[in-house]
Amino acid sequence: MEFLAGSLLELIVQTSTNLPPDVRAAMSLTAAAETPGTQSAQALDIICSNIDMASGETGAICQDTGMPTFVIHTPVGVNQIQLRQAIKEAVAEATRLGKLRPNSVDSITGKNSGNNLGAETPVFHFDQWEEDEIEIKLVLKGGGCENMNAQYSVPCQLDHLGRADRNLEGVRKCILHAVWKAQGLGCAPGALGVCIGSDRAHGYELAKGQLFRTLDDVNPDPTLARLEAEIMEEANRLGVGAMGFGGKASLIGCKITAANRLPASFFVSVAYDCWAFRRLGVRLDPSTGAITRWLYRDPARPVERMAKGEGFALTGREVVLTPPLTEAQMRALKVGDVVLITGEMFTGRDNVHAYLMKNPPPVDLHGAVLYHCGPVMLKDGERWTVKAAGPTTSMREEPYQADVIKRYGVRAVIGKGGMGPKTLAALQEYGAVYLNGIGGAAQFYARTVQEVLGVNLMEFGIPEAMWHLRVKGFAAIVTMDAHGASLHADVERATGEVLETLQKA
Ligand code: SF4
Repeated sequence: MEFLAGSLLELIVQTSTNLPPDVRAAMSLTAAAETPGTQSAQALDIICSNIDMASGETGAICQDTGMPTFVIHTPVGVNQIQLRQAIKEAVAEATRLGKLRPNSVDSITGKNSGNNLGAETPVFHFDQWEEDEIEIKLVLKGGGCENMNAQYSVPCQLDHLGRADRNLEGVRKCILHAVWKAQGLGCAPGALGVCIGSDRAHGYELAKGQLFRTLDDVNPDPTLARLEAEIMEEANRLGVGAMGFGGKASLIGCKITAANRLPASFFVSVAYDCWAFRRLGVRLDPSTGAITRWLYRDPARPVERMAKGEGFALTGREVVLTPPLTEAQMRALKVGDVVLITGEMFTGRDNVHAYLMKNPPPVDLHGAVLYHCGPVMLKDGERWTVKAAGPTTSMREEPYQADVIKRYGVRAVIGKGGMGPKTLAALQEYGAVYLNGIGGAAQFYARTVQEVLGVNLMEFGIPEAMWHLRVKGFAAIVTMDAHGASLHADVERATGEVLETLQKA
């Protein structure tokens, strides 16, 4: 199959860099419907620009290129062992080219394989079929939204919604609860795949399988079609907004399937995908491996530009910060302020935070900006370049962040999704702020990096190392300040109140 390697690489690269038309259309509608001038609208502007930048330069839409999951159908007679090997090689090549982040970590040793290959990665689902072409579908679903998946065993008791029983009304409550719990942590607005029934393991698999439906299709089962429409309407009344900033959109899609269950079990499994909903597919000629057609794409429809403006329209009211930062500067900031950082910052995420609990930092963090980010980096000779660098979910650092601020004098933490009460208290006590970047805007933020000044703790692998960056005009919003205010806590409270109104008798 002379063209197979090229076809597989193209599928992976296009999936990582170019959102399918149904997702683009849904995001365009969402951006157009948001109230202008709000933080949610600002986030959507950046997201739309980022989508354009990624497809324009074939760069990863989000730095977290997720767990590559392939669903493959082959005609009888195709050698699946060879096809699996060819896909693995294409995954490694896409990683080498910086189109996928090295994301495969040994769960026992913590070592990153560096090429996205390892035990059970990537994920394969093979099937045979009667058709005469090979079909390969791929979804790249990142860790932030993967962590927002939820599985309910009904009957159960839910915050703000009361009891969920073993009926469709109980299912409705579980799905709405999952959207509410996700807030901005999974980079809202999200898309849901849901499975009603089955067992725990297969229920999750079937839920994820629903993400291969296009956002605009209508469920052939009228009962499920009604439920999907109802969830869309109600979830978008919650007010989660883009990135959980509060706003009109919570969801861009909800796709539901049902499977038989055991009499004793009733699971509702929810797969939450983010706005960076990367899913594509191809049909291949089984004799040559050439692409015969793309799935999810309309060849008659060119890729449309998403952004209406510049991506982030400056108002002149932004606060320019040039690290090292002082306590007085941080105490002057309030929730809602937009900042532009110009100067140096350090990345640090899970491994770095755990390391700092037991060891002094390898760099001076007094007055520093600490960026929760696991970038995609490429080395050209001795020089590192940033290929994608959006924020990661900050909540994972909640057990550590207060200590890091207290011990080492960090003044600003950048991430996405917000942090909890322990961090909020530390911001207040020591005079620091939490800045929310726009999750998934990996190309947008990569362009603010002027220079990679160095790297420490490289033994943790590229995403987890501590990168020393010089940035210019890095935009973020103060969502937790040194006065005890938290936009995230406010939005969670307000959306919880709306959720209560969605209880039915
Ligand atoms: S957009 Fe957000 S949730 Fe989605 S993969 Fe990127 S960082 Fe993760």
